[in-house]
Amino acid sequence: MKNKLINIIANTNKFSKEIYLQLKQELENHDYFIPDEYHPEAELNISIGGDGSFLRCLRHNDFPQIPIIGMNTGNLGFYPELSPKDISSFAIEYSQGHYSINKINLLQCEIYSEKETYTVYALNDIAIKGDKTKTIHLDIFIDYNHLQTVSGDGIIVSTPFGSSAYNYSAGGSLVYPSLNAIQITPIAPLNSNAYRCLSSSIVLPPELNVVIVPEYKYIENVVFSVDGEQYNFDKVNHANFFISQSHINMLSMGSFNYWKVIREKFL
Ligand code: NAP
Ligand code: MN
Repeated sequence: MKNKLINIIANTNKFSKEIYLQLKQELENHDYFIPDEYHPEAELNISIGGDGSFLRCLRHNDFPQIPIIGMNTGNLGFYPELSPKDISSFAIEYSQGHYSINKINLLQCEIYSEKETYTVYALNDIAIKGDKTKTIHLDIFIDYNHLQTVSGDGIIVSTPFGSSAYNYSAGGSLVYPSLNAIQITPIAPLNSNAYRCLSSSIVLPPELNVVIVPEYKYIENVVFSVDGEQYNFDKVNHANFFISQSHINMLSMGSFNYWKVIREKFL
């Protein structure tokens, strides 16, 4: 809906606040209105910060259908396509309709506890870990086949866009974003004569059902890290992962180049 309302959501650091004011002014010069509080019917969301801010902007507003673009004032900034030097060109190009919108499906996880079922969504990843320093044991089922019990610090389930985040640190592969896939990556898996665990990640097509079952005696000690935010659920029985029908709309000014981002920010 073209209502000239744009939400700008900045993180709390000083530089981001300065950029917020500059961007607000520039957009107002192009007849846009920037509400003081988040408006659920705005035509665009702009996140100012790094990846953490971008992910929080989505999560804390329930993954809105409003298109989103980021302006990077953070450390890494994988998602934010804009930088502060783009403020004036962005206002011109956006007001002239020179952009595209890409649909990105979310990772969905249904968590079955003894009493309730919870649903969480992620753009990057969902990790299951122990909440203590002890080894955690997780049974992995793929398409109803028991693959293995993975013992270690936990498991990361990631999307292609999230593959360069936690997954990459844990030795997983970068997955090109146009591949519709889920990656399962063990975190510090044990490999000894007592335990045999996957020592690499597995990349799966989206239609396969992935279920992770914490071993019974560890049931009280499981935590979920959803795009880096911690969730604790009581007595988790199992968790079911799949590519969701729900998606976000990522606005692009045409300057997002996956390989350029990877080269400049990772290699
Ligand atoms: P954070 O702990 O500040 O993030 C860790 C780093 O990951 C930051 O430099 C962040 O960029 C970067 N990042 C986030 N998403 C990325 C992506 N898709 N590709 C490449 N780098 C990415 O937490 P956060 O900023 O809230 O981000 C949440 C993410 O942190 C989680 O989804 C998880 O993937 C990741 N994480 C990584 C580790 C690890 O590598 N050992 C541990 C826990 C969580 P910015 O500097 O721009 O924020
Ligand atoms: Mn961060």
